[in-house]
Amino acid sequence: MQELIAALPQIDKTTVYRTIELFETLGIVQRLQIGWKYKLELSNAYQDHHHHITCVRCGQTVALPENDVIEEHLLNLARQAGFTPQDHQLEVRGLCPACQ
Ligand SMILES: [Zn+2]
Ligand SMILES: [Zn+2]
Repeated sequence: MQELIAALPQIDKTTVYRTIELFETLGIVQRLQIGWKYKLELSNAYQDHHHHITCVRCGQTVALPENDVIEEHLLNLARQAGFTPQDHQLEVRGLCPACQ
C-alpha cells in the first residue's frame, strides 16, 4: 500500500485507498496478512493459485511451487469441518537464504 502511494505521487492518497477498497470489493485484489502487516495481491481469479513463504527478517515474499497433495488435503479438511471451500491463503514464515 505504501509502495503504491509512493509509486503514484500524482494521484491523491485518498483516491488510491478508495480504488484499492473498490478492487477488494470486486475481488480483483486481496489482502494477504503478513504478520501484523499486509500485502495486496491480485486475487486468485486473476492469477494462478499459489502459497507463499515470507522472510521474517527482510520481508521478501516468494511463491511456493504448487502442490496438488496439499491443495487436496486442505480442501478435505475444510469439507470435514462441514464447509464448502472456495478459496484459501497459506503463508509460511521463516528466514530466506540471505538472512540465515
Ligand atoms: Zn530475508
Ligand atoms: Zn493452495
